[in-house]
Amino acid sequence: MTALGDLLVARIARTGPISLADYMADCLMHPEHGYYATRDPFGQSGDFITAPEISQMFGELIGLSLAQSWIDQGSPDAITVAELGPGRGTLMADVLRATKAVPGFHGALTVHFIEASPVLRKSQATAVPDAIWHDGVDTLPDQPLFLIANEFFDALPIRQFVREGDGWREKMVGVTDQALSFGLSSAAHLGLLEHRLADTGEGDLVELCTALPAIMQAIGTKIDAHGGAALVIDYGDWQSQGDTLQALKAHDHVDPLSTPGANDLTAHVDFAAIAHNAAPAKFTRLTTQGVFLERLGITARAQTLAQSLTGTARQAHVLAHRRLTHPAEMGDLFKVMGIYPATATPPAGLEP
Ligand code: SAH
Repeated sequence: MTALGDLLVARIARTGPISLADYMADCLMHPEHGYYATRDPFGQSGDFITAPEISQMFGELIGLSLAQSWIDQGSPDAITVAELGPGRGTLMADVLRATKAVPGFHGALTVHFIEASPVLRKSQATAVPDAIWHDGVDTLPDQPLFLIANEFFDALPIRQFVREGDGWREKMVGVTDQALSFGLSSAAHLGLLEHRLADTGEGDLVELCTALPAIMQAIGTKIDAHGGAALVIDYGDWQSQGDTLQALKAHDHVDPLSTPGANDLTAHVDFAAIAHNAAPAKFTRLTTQGVFLERLGITARAQTLAQSLTGTARQAHVLAHRRLTHPAEMGDLFKVMGIYPATATPPAGLEP
């Protein structure tokens, strides 16, 4: 058990079981023991690797898609380029490098990062020194908003509910024999899950990301009012069903209750919730990452980059291209959804 585990066992023994969302929030962002709050988890030697850390092509193509949206919307002259949960800042650095040659784009933009981890804010400041940091989306400027969220929503706490009749029992974290254990609350009718009664049956489990609605409403409202576009990239599906909570340590799955604060915890993203909360802004068709990157020209970009590489570097580059796009790797698992104003065309690579 970890130090955070001991704290949680003591607290739960005193005040009773906590929701899975409260458990995840402490595991990920507890100021002293939280996973993201205290470390950089990325890369080969870390616990997991994300698309921008696999290849520079990922951020470059996203940058070109956003710059194209900016041009399509008349190249407005004071814009926000924002990222939710930028990790090491690699993606934004690649976006900025790839868009240097787009006339007027850099003169128009200011970079804004939404990041909760003080450790990761430091890495981000090294990668993108001119960024402005925020705790949440509400303080972003009232300007056209061009926003990226890669593997951000999967890191937000979720609640889980198991259906019983027309009611729901919530998954809770309690204590059994001095160790953390899962249990279920008694059943209650929940207005918040009314929309899931139609597509679930007895015993089915559904997940709810508690922070998502407010974040997407703020983004959708800004994009509708001022213009811009958002690209949300993550694993998940349209209203997925079943238990998707997963704990990763050193690239392997572990028990989510075994080492609180010392492993990553994620859940699949419900893209229906992303789409519906973005209103009055519009959402694109959900598209796989592989198809999205192919449409943006990743193969041509990969060939150009390969020309200057030899030996193991060239092999690694070929593998990285495959890893990002192949259906058996990240290509199908990861999905992309664009958010855009009703008066504009969808972001490049995506369809209405
Ligand atoms: N986008 C990056 C990192 C993904 S990991 C990449 O693709 O490599 C998730 C990121 O979201 C981390 O930077 C983490 O610190 C941040 N994060 C998680 N929960 C957050 C919250 N509630 N508010 C702000 N940032 C958060």
